[in-house]
Amino acid sequence: MSGEKDQMTTSPPEKLQGFEWWRRSLQYRTGLGLSAQEAKQFEHDWLATKKPLLNNAAEEYRDWVLRYSPTVRFMMDHIRKLGFDISSKHIVCEPCGDNLKSGGFHESEGILLCSDQIRDKWHLEDTLAHELVHMYDYIKFDVNLKNLKHHACTEIRASMLSGECRVMNEIQKTGLSNFGEKFQLCIKRRAVLSVTANPYCANKEEAEKVVNSVWQSCFNDTRPFERVYR
Ligand SMILES: [Zn+2]
Repeated sequence: MSGEKDQMTTSPPEKLQGFEWWRRSLQYRTGLGLSAQEAKQFEHDWLATKKPLLNNAAEEYRDWVLRYSPTVRFMMDHIRKLGFDISSKHIVCEPCGDNLKSGGFHESEGILLCSDQIRDKWHLEDTLAHELVHMYDYIKFDVNLKNLKHHACTEIRASMLSGECRVMNEIQKTGLSNFGEKFQLCIKRRAVLSVTANPYCANKEEAEKVVNSVWQSCFNDTRPFERVYR
C-alpha cells in the first residue's frame, strides 16, 4: 500500500465478498499460497472497496465501546472527576495513513483513533483505553512530553492498564513459556517503541535507559484502578 500510482483494475464482485473474500484475506494475512501479484491485487481491492467503509465502522465501534466497555467507562468517569467534561466529540476516528500506531493523544485536540488500523471493537477498546490513560495522566500529573521520564511513565501505565498486553495476546504471539514475565516484557517493549519515537529522544538505547529508570514506580502505579485485573 505505497504511494505509487495504482493502475490496477478492481476484481469482479464475486471475488470481493463472502467466502472468496474471506479466503483471500486469510491468504493475504498468512502469506500462504499467494503470489506477489495476487497480494498486490488484494491490496488494491481492499483499498478500492473496503477502506472507505472503515471510518464509519470505527465510529460505530467507538460508540459501542463508550457505552459498554467497563474499562473505557471507568477511565471516562475518572477524567470527568478531574474536571474535564470528556465526551465522544473529543474522540475522533480518522485514517492515520501509517501502520506504526493505532491511536494518539494530543493535549489540546483530544484523542485520535486510526480508522485504517483498528481491526475490531476489542482493538478499539484497548487503543482508546491506552489513550485515555495518557489523557488522565496529562490532566492529573501535569505530564510534560519533552521530559522523557514523564513520557516513559505514562506509556508504561497506558500499556499496563489498557489491556494491550493481556496475557493471552502475548501467549499467541510468543508461545506458552514464562508467561508471568511476558506481561512486563510486552509493556516494556511498547514503552520503548513510543519513547524512541519522541523527537527529544536520541535513540532506542536512550529510550530503554529511561524506561528502566522509571519502571518500578510507574509499573506499580495503577491509579485510577485499584489493581490491574487482566
Ligand atoms: Zn501511548
